[in-house]
Amino acid sequence: MLLVVDDQPAIRQLLAEALESEGFAVIVASNGYEAVDIARRQKPELILLDLKMPGLGGLEALREIRRFSPSVPVILVTAYGELSGLGEAGGLGIRRLIIKPFDLDEVRSVVRSVLGAVAV
Ligand SMILES: [Mg+2]
Repeated sequence: MLLVVDDQPAIRQLLAEALESEGFAVIVASNGYEAVDIARRQKPELILLDLKMPGLGGLEALREIRRFSPSVPVILVTAYGELSGLGEAGGLGIRRLIIKPFDLDEVRSVVRSVLGAVAV
């Protein structure tokens, strides 16, 4: 199961549909708190995580998730203009970065590549 986290409904839906069309089971979360909760209870095999969210942001959520899932692969999704918010991302084990606006083929290929790397 893949966990897709984004505060914007249209982006959640786009990502979820793109990955479901590839045969993945997808669960969505609309904020950082939900993401932590789902990650804790459902142990996704990969998390696509929005950086900028109101309340608990992506990096703060990931810090929590790392307490109980030290190795789940995480792909961070962010807008180019928000890259400066990545300053505290070191040590959180972020595998790849996807820049909005993204291309869905790129998203599928990045997810496959990260999951493939995990399997090896
Ligand atoms: Mg956002």
